[in-house]
Amino acid sequence: MIELRSDTFTKPTHAMLEAMFSAYVGDDVFNEDPTVNKLQSMLADKFGMEAGLFCPSGTMTNQIAIKCHTEPGGEVICDKMSHVYIYEGGGIAFNSGCQVKAVEGNHGRITARQILESINPDDIHKAKTQLVSLENTANRGGGSCYDFNEIEEIKKVCLQNNLKLHLHGARLFNAIVARKESRKKYGNIFDSISICLSKGLGAPVGSVLLGNKDFIEKARRVRKVFGGGMRQAGYLAAAGIFALENHIDRLAIDHLHAKQIAEALSKKDFTGVMMPVETNIIIFEVGGDYTPKTLAEALKKKDILVSAISSTQIRMVLHLDVSDEMVKQIISVVESL
Ligand SMILES: *Cc1c(COP(=O)(O)O)cnc(C)c1O
Repeated sequence: MIELRSDTFTKPTHAMLEAMFSAYVGDDVFNEDPTVNKLQSMLADKFGMEAGLFCPSGTMTNQIAIKCHTEPGGEVICDKMSHVYIYEGGGIAFNSGCQVKAVEGNHGRITARQILESINPDDIHKAKTQLVSLENTANRGGGSCYDFNEIEEIKKVCLQNNLKLHLHGARLFNAIVARKESRKKYGNIFDSISICLSKGLGAPVGSVLLGNKDFIEKARRVRKVFGGGMRQAGYLAAAGIFALENHIDRLAIDHLHAKQIAEALSKKDFTGVMMPVETNIIIFEVGGDYTPKTLAEALKKKDILVSAISSTQIRMVLHLDVSDEMVKQIISVVESL
């Protein structure tokens, strides 16, 4: 089977397993796991940030960040399709007692102007706007990337209005590789950044939250409350270190594969509107002789797994377990449909 449902399906390579097997570990709840500490400082250094916190999931890193940046009764501004809002089980309300102002963005990206217009006035009837959360790349935007200029404008609005700025960077490395950007620029501008190691980077588990020392100290406390304090987590952190050392530059291959498959799809009558393919995600509308469900079934018969993400759209995600050979096979199956 060729797995295109998500880049979360990646399995550790043999070399990654060896790195995990030989990790030095300790009790991370006591801050004594050398491999976890190494992963956290390695990633913080890459972004020029002060500290990092290793967590079991991307959802947890986002939820901890939101909890640390807000007070109950507050409001968080984000795109209406952002993961923190639609895919984290109502966690913003559940964990932080905050509500969301969901903004209609352009392929998952919101603008400084929209944010400015969404800030509530200082009025006792209104929830206090406290945080802006951006997603880069934006999953439901088809892996779209922010223009850094827009992020700079957003930061100005945040500073002028005393708002914190969180980057939900599950696939931040995809954006950085696609746009050939500097990591430190991101570290400089955001109050916190969450990064998934278990997507295209290929680690089996784990995400890291980055921020300044005070923020991460607070986050460590919240992680414990959320039940995310892990003990000999160094075996998992070792996979993350291996991924950071070996699997970042190769994301460009996934982006190329996505473009090749998108090109084959775009020649088919059943392909309707396709979101711009900037990174490793392809999202397109299905029409003609197929519905998303029947197209997914037809592909499955040819050993290709994709997801029908709505009643009109299919999503395909490229990652390190999809080889050049498999991409050729996918393209010939698409051409045969
Ligand atoms: C996968 C993903 C996450 C985190 O998912 P977990 O399963 O909690 O690790 C967060 N945001 C986006 C955009 C994702 O695709």
